[in-house]
Parts: sequence; structure tokens; C-alpha cells
Amino acid sequence: MSPTSELQAELESASGAYEEFASRGLKLDITRGKPASAQLDLAADLLTAVTPDDVMTPSGVDTRNYGGLDGIVELRELFSPLLKIPSNQLLAGGNASLTLMAQALTFALMHGTVGDSRPWGQGPHKLICPVPGYDRHFTLAESLGFELLSIPMDSQGPVVAEAQRLAEDETVKGMWLVPMYSNPTGITITEERAKELAAMPAAAPDFTLLWDNAYGLHHLRDEHPEVLDILDICTKAGHPERPWIFASTSKITHAGAGVSFFGAGPETSDWIRSNLAKISIGPDKVNQLRHLRFFSTPEGVEEHMRQHAKIIAPKFDAVLDTLERELGGTDLAQWTHPDGGYFITLTTLEGTADRIVKLAAEAGVKLTPAGATHPYGLDPHNNVIRIAPTMPTVEDVELAAQGLVACVKLASYEKLLAG
Ligand code: PMP
Repeated sequence: MSPTSELQAELESASGAYEEFASRGLKLDITRGKPASAQLDLAADLLTAVTPDDVMTPSGVDTRNYGGLDGIVELRELFSPLLKIPSNQLLAGGNASLTLMAQALTFALMHGTVGDSRPWGQGPHKLICPVPGYDRHFTLAESLGFELLSIPMDSQGPVVAEAQRLAEDETVKGMWLVPMYSNPTGITITEERAKELAAMPAAAPDFTLLWDNAYGLHHLRDEHPEVLDILDICTKAGHPERPWIFASTSKITHAGAGVSFFGAGPETSDWIRSNLAKISIGPDKVNQLRHLRFFSTPEGVEEHMRQHAKIIAPKFDAVLDTLERELGGTDLAQWTHPDGGYFITLTTLEGTADRIVKLAAEAGVKLTPAGATHPYGLDPHNNVIRIAPTMPTVEDVELAAQGLVACVKLASYEKLLAG
């Protein structure tokens, strides 16, 4: 057979497999990284952890009343060793770290930071965005008027030489980063890369690492990397105020009703405190007390995360096994092998991602829109697809992966034949 007729035969077979899958009329969704109900059930006791006659913190604060802007001290002490942030530089907030990111960036735009009192919003302001990355980081920053500058990631984290080149521009104010089990690649930054970013020269005196450690405790395997002490790393590199650390229990307890955290150097934690004091009299301490009682100790959090892993690791494995079985050894796609977090990234042939997402939708498998992993929704190679396997059942995730594979093959052979 000539190469063209071989491809033609592959296309026909892929088309048949796709039609067969589509004819099943399934309705599957692997779009957003939401916890499954079984994961939410793990934290059911949270809902009864505070009762009407038992609302005081161990140090005697009535959680029902105003005040306590930093969040309750015992919860900050509990999360301090887990997040590697001294408790007096760690604030516990409301239910969403994304809101804290929006607030911190807005304060910098309006008032400047500890490293530079000139408001970022007074002139052009730009952020470096490692790609593929988290779509909500990009839409938030874009909505605040930042220009978004993409840099690549490799298996060790963001490519620092690219970041450094962009940071020579004084209007580049910082860089997004999901250091562990990144959304959407699952990549964890190495200590060496973190040290390079900490030491990196930057023209802006207050160049900031937006260190979003959303998945720092979300290990899938028993052997796992540890949370890096980025405050210490940056302090040793001479930039103690460079990292702004964000985290939350959104995917630890209840995604819509968790506790968010902000950690930073001594001056920046005072800066955020004084800015937050103007927009809030204090966070939801009742919810924070619930979390404190539910976990009791840092080890309680770690044990809880092992229960999550038992539920979601088989879903990751179902996707990874299907990809390996169906696409392993072909040149049609590569994918990441995360050891934690919520996502797998599939890289397909150049120019096929939007076609695959469309084919999948028509066959009953909802995928995150192509391009969502890049600033402005524009994936220049149109080849990155984010897979979020946590929410459906193992059986449905496996079916969705099979459907996805059918779409990858069909779109790939169409592309290869088109030349
Ligand atoms: N950061 C990253 C990297 C995320 O993936 C998510 C959730 N998808 C968030 C932040 C949102 O966190 P929160 O619920 O605390 O706002």
C-alpha cells in the first residue's frame, strides 16, 4: 500500500470507530476540575463541626462576631507547616483564593506594593504566563488590564531564561505560577528552577511571583514531592518579598465553602493586612473553626488527602491506561503523567485541538474548549487539550477517554491526509 492509501485506510477505520462511539448517545463531561461527590462526602463532618453551643476558638474568640482579619490563629498554625509559611505571615480568608488573587492584584494596581509605591495601574502592566496554564488566572489578569506574555514550560517548570528576558521590561510586574501539579500539566517545579526564579534579575523593583499553590497537598501517589519553602528560597536569594503565596481548601474540603490562604514576606503580609482592613471587618471565622475542628492537626489534613487520592487516582489511571493502550507508540499525541493535582494535558498534532474538541462534543464528550489553557484563549499551535478526570465515575472517565481517543485518531488522520 502507498503511504496515502495507508493513511486513507487509517482514516476509514478511525471514522468507523468514531461513528460507533457517537452512536452510543453518551453524555460525558471532563471539562472542569471539580471534586466528585464522593470527595465532598469525605468532609461531611465539617457541616456539624460547629454547633450552637460551641462557637468559641481554643483561644476564646467568639467566631460569630466581627474581627480577626488574619483569620483564626489556630487554623493558621495548623496550615503553617503544610504550606511552609510562618503563621504570623499567613492569613486565612474566605472561601476562594481566586478572590484573594484579585484583591492582591487590585491593591497593587491602585496603591503599589512594598517594593515600589507607584501604583501598577498608572502605566502599562504586564504579567508573564507559563503555558499551558490556568484559564482563570488569565481571564482575571486580562480583566484587570494586564497584558499577558506567554512563556513555555518544560518538565521542570517554567523556562526561566524566557521569563528573565521578559522581566528586563520594567512594566512586567510579575509571573503566574502553579508550583505543584500545575493546572493543566500536572508538572511540579524543581527546587533548582524555583531558586532560579527567586534569584532572577528583574527590572521592576517589586517583581512578584504569583505562587498559586492550589494543589500543593493533592498527591496521587505515596511517594511525592514536598511543598517548597519559597519564602526561604526567595529570602536567601535577596528577594524576601517576591512571592505572594495563595492556597485554599477548595479541593480539600468543600469546593464552594473552603478556606483560602495568603502568605508572603513580613512586609507584604503587613501590606495585604492593611489593604484588606479597608474592605473587610474579618473573614468567616465560623467556617475556619469548622475546618480547625475537622482536621485537628496537620497530619489530619495529610490523612484526609490520602482518602481523596484513593478516590481519584483510579480515574487518572483509567485515562492514562486508555491513552497508553490506544495512542502509545504512535506519533499522534503525547500526554503528561501527573502524580497529583486535577489535570492531565494531552498534546495532539499541530492544528487539531479545536477539531478534536468539536468532534468530542458531537459524540457526547464535553472537553475544556481548545485554547483555554493559553492567554486570550489562543493556543498558537492549536494542539493542547486539558483533561479533568475527577468528577465523573471511573467507568464514565474511561468511556470519555475512549471517546477522546477516537476523536484524536479521526482528527489526526484527517490532518495527515490533508497534508
Ligand atoms: N488556582 C488554581 C491553579 C486552580 O486550579 C483553582 C481551581 N480550579 C483555583 C486556583 C481556584 O481556587 P479557589 O477555589 O480557592 O478560588
